[in-house]
Amino acid sequence: MTGIQLYNTLARAKQAFEPQDPKNVRMYVCGPTVYDYAHIGNARPVIVFDTLFRLLRHVYGEAHVTYARNITDIDDKIMKRAADEGVSIKTISERYARVYNEDMGTLGALQPTIQPKATEHLSEMIRMMQTLIAKGHAYEAEGHVLFNVPSMENYGRLSGHSRDELIAGARVDVAPFKKDPADFVLWKPSTDEQPGWNSPWGRGRPGWHLECSCMIEKHLGETIDIHGGGQDLIFPHHENEIAQSECTHGAQFVRYWMHNGYLTVDGEKMSKSLGNFHTVHDLIADHPGEALRLSLLTAHYRQPIDFSLANVSEQKRRLDRWYRLTESVASATEVPASVIEALADDLNTPRAIAALDALATKETAADLKAGAQFMGFLTMAADKWFQGDAADGDDAAEIEAMIAARKAARANKDFAESDRIRDALLAKGIVLEDSAGGTTWRRAD
Ligand SMILES: [Zn+2]
Repeated sequence: MTGIQLYNTLARAKQAFEPQDPKNVRMYVCGPTVYDYAHIGNARPVIVFDTLFRLLRHVYGEAHVTYARNITDIDDKIMKRAADEGVSIKTISERYARVYNEDMGTLGALQPTIQPKATEHLSEMIRMMQTLIAKGHAYEAEGHVLFNVPSMENYGRLSGHSRDELIAGARVDVAPFKKDPADFVLWKPSTDEQPGWNSPWGRGRPGWHLECSCMIEKHLGETIDIHGGGQDLIFPHHENEIAQSECTHGAQFVRYWMHNGYLTVDGEKMSKSLGNFHTVHDLIADHPGEALRLSLLTAHYRQPIDFSLANVSEQKRRLDRWYRLTESVASATEVPASVIEALADDLNTPRAIAALDALATKETAADLKAGAQFMGFLTMAADKWFQGDAADGDDAAEIEAMIAARKAARANKDFAESDRIRDALLAKGIVLEDSAGGTTWRRAD
């Protein structure tokens, strides 16, 4: 069995991965808050941990890996969007959860084993708060329930923040009812107009951190193997998940913490005002999902990545090359060892891609196909890949009609007309290829 090495943020070191139970490997990744389209930065953890999910399934067997990625479907941003549109939060969250899953599917991400929704775990959240209050780790104040940070001796271990940094970094304003400025919200009151649920502390709604702890407890248990997310979640989100779960259960929460680095676009932080803001939804309208996926994996996950459309085009050309080589080749039955070994080394995707490039020869095309498909590439028929979006709908029907007209012209020896049709198609970016079997077409490079 291939040994997997993973960098554990908590240990600040690369470690041999040893699951608690190899028959039941458990991974959780913080999912989206669904109030708008996901941007390309949101897609990075999805693709990174999808690659890890594929590796874990390869090593431990598909039936022995459970991957949960939640949907945060209650949040102030969702409430604002719903109020702006005059619809319920359910309408908003269901709409964007559906788009999210479709878009991530286009990027080749497998569906997680479980996608729990926050609003379906209210009773678990209330129970966890009751336990934390009973154990002296949380308290009620003015309709809120707060976690008391000084009640936990080793709070802050994951981020390594000092107490001053913890206080300065607390996102919410220091409310007068807090016992300690670093205390964070588990539950907050809702007004009559706001969505809310009944609780022993009045009608209200959960804080974001609490949701993940409860969904993990319910679906994966008290101690899980891997918890992933973006580096920006280390503090306060993951620090607070640890506090809630470990103080509730008195057991280690997560054995390996993994965090992916930041994503910039054209060298800058992505922002709507800079005009470099890309939603996945827009990108997949113009670029193949596999090229976007490959682009996101060209940097090691712990390194920052600078996303650019130029790089997406470069990866598209790399995929063109792979598709051409493997067009009429059956995939090898085994995933090449060079690919598995690279991924097992703390998910070294640049090395895995280099290993695929090394297999991009006529002699090793079957191995290339197996390795690429394992990583979520070469999943289309080559002709569909080269035809691109034009393969669907009206475009394709029109192209086929022109090809038929050209065939008729050639049969009548009207070569001027035949050439005219070929040139007209070329002007539309469509290249014809004649062979003994007839004429096929593809998009020009
Ligand atoms: Zn989370």
